[in-house]
Amino acid sequence: MAERARGKVFIHEEECKGCGLCVESCPPHCLVLAAELSAYGVHPARYTGQDCTGCGICFYCCPEPGAITVYRLKKPAKAAAEAQPGGVHAGAV
Ligand code: SF4
Ligand code: SF4
Repeated sequence: MAERARGKVFIHEEECKGCGLCVESCPPHCLVLAAELSAYGVHPARYTGQDCTGCGICFYCCPEPGAITVYRLKKPAKAAAEAQPGGVHAGAV
């Protein structure tokens, strides 16, 4: 399935507590817990780098403010593969 990603997600490791809620809730399963420990001794969430739809579910289920930022990507006809800052979550369309 080579469908173009519609979103992009950034995990801020210093805010992540490694609870895994975002990993479990992501519909396309594009988040994982890192194998290595963060500076805080937890396995932080990490984006696999593909298939994010920008749905924002991970943002809404994360208990840590500031741990996740979701971007929705503009359609190719308007701006090729350029990330559109959508604020701190995907709810602002
Ligand atoms: S925005 Fe949606 S698809 Fe992207 S990582 Fe979060 S839950 Fe998964
Ligand atoms: S839900 Fe938030 S705190 Fe929990 S693993 Fe994901 S980013 Fe980290």
